[in-house]
Amino acid sequence: MSKASRILNGALETEFRTVKAMMEIYCKQNHASEKLCSDCEALLLYAETKLDRCPYGENKPTCNKCPIHCYKPEQKQQMKAVMRYSGPRMLIPHPILSIRHLLHERRDVPKKPEAGQSNRSKRKAKSTS
Ligand SMILES: [Zn+2]
Repeated sequence: MSKASRILNGALETEFRTVKAMMEIYCKQNHASEKLCSDCEALLLYAETKLDRCPYGENKPTCNKCPIHCYKPEQKQQMKAVMRYSGPRMLIPHPILSIRHLLHERRDVPKKPEAGQSNRSKRKAKSTS
């Protein structure tokens, strides 16, 4: 499978792929757009940046359980609408991603992450060493 994100890896990349799939379902039905419309494209880019900077890194809990509120109110509202709409509609087109997400959601939130766990810090460490 080709990578959905140029910068994310592992669990974060899978998470990003899940968000992207949800946004595609949402946009198609609500914005009558075959590919993501520009608003949704912008929101997806925002989500990618947040995943990149998530202090939990690959240990990240699912967003709705996360104690760190990293989204701005506007984007948070938009993303909530996407999740609410697409969550129940994910199982048929994306069974593996949705089951993974449901299982992940039942896990406990990991304890506070140490510094330097985000994908971004690891990326930077790699590029400077
Ligand atoms: Zn859209």
